[in-house]
Amino acid sequence: MIDNCSFKEPFVIGLFYGTAKPCNHEFLLDFINDVHSIEEGFAYEGKQMTVKISAFICDAPARAFIKNVKGHAGCSGCEKCIQHGVWLDKITFPETNASLRTHASFIAKDDEDHHLGETPLTDLSIGMVSAFPLDYMHLVCLGVMRRLLKIWTKGPLRTRLGPRVVKEISNRLEALRPSVPLEFARKPRPLREVDRWKASEFRQFLLYSRPLVLLGKLPDEQYKNFLLFSVSLHILLHPILSTSYCDYAQELLVLFVNHYGQLYGRDMITYNVHGLVHLPNDVKKFGVLDSISCFPFENYLGHLKRMVRKPSSPLQQVIRRMTSYAVVVFTGEEGVAMIPEVWCVGDNRCYWPPFKTVQRFERALLSCEPPKENWALYDMQIL
Ligand SMILES: [Zn+2]
Repeated sequence: MIDNCSFKEPFVIGLFYGTAKPCNHEFLLDFINDVHSIEEGFAYEGKQMTVKISAFICDAPARAFIKNVKGHAGCSGCEKCIQHGVWLDKITFPETNASLRTHASFIAKDDEDHHLGETPLTDLSIGMVSAFPLDYMHLVCLGVMRRLLKIWTKGPLRTRLGPRVVKEISNRLEALRPSVPLEFARKPRPLREVDRWKASEFRQFLLYSRPLVLLGKLPDEQYKNFLLFSVSLHILLHPILSTSYCDYAQELLVLFVNHYGQLYGRDMITYNVHGLVHLPNDVKKFGVLDSISCFPFENYLGHLKRMVRKPSSPLQQVIRRMTSYAVVVFTGEEGVAMIPEVWCVGDNRCYWPPFKTVQRFERALLSCEPPKENWALYDMQIL
């Protein structure tokens, strides 16, 4: 995805396929060579363009893999600070003010326990710590928010809510369904379905539903603890508040993590909970958390997966469908059009983008832009 461009959509620069993740980092070499060839700049339509890598957006296992460092379940697994985790049936990271890692300390391998070996990414002109922000979709939505809901519904008796309260919260969630605007991809679902909630549903609960459904239902201490988490995330996701109150969000998150340990047990301060204290630093460098989240990439991955329609030769299928077009005739209308195959839904329906300008439409057409949820669907036949 290009950062300083009005067209902010992911696009493919390389695909890997295998029965497991790659056994070494060789698959990164083509990418690194490409970066070297364009970072000096190139001419495009009479202008000199330069390319600079801003950030690598990945989940924690992928970040650890490409950096060749310990994973988040390892004792030196925090990518942002130097602390050796405490083993309490699982690795925990209780410190909230440990020394921060730097690019220099990464290159010098000051913390030997953190590294598994070399990574070819050090050949690039990037900060090996700062260019790898923590992703809030996995850390916050699928991480801490999901963990809290599981503690409240299925956790230890000491902090678990009674079945009647869980039912009341679910009733409130379901009562919100008719009032949820179209901008939200999904309507709230009851807590009994929490195992099937998507990341966007945890985000909706954390940022929008929470004030209505939890008020008066959580014990006071747990509610106040949750407010620290929810309010600080509001700040870090807000374009104006995040510039003025980033340090305040940092204080709230440190307070949240420490209080969380007292409430739910120190063994619950795992990688995701601890990682919250590092989010404000990423926001200071990159802007709001949405600018460095996996949400757009996960959505795009869904489009790529739908291009694979049979088990054999998946890469070939994706490449062919990303670059192939179909001529379609619209049912009941006189129009005939050539559209990217990725806009087709089976053989008799297709998406059509809502763009008002010819330039924007052509860009979507020529780049085979994956369809969005707000695109209209039309009946058609492929000629
Ligand atoms: Zn840390």
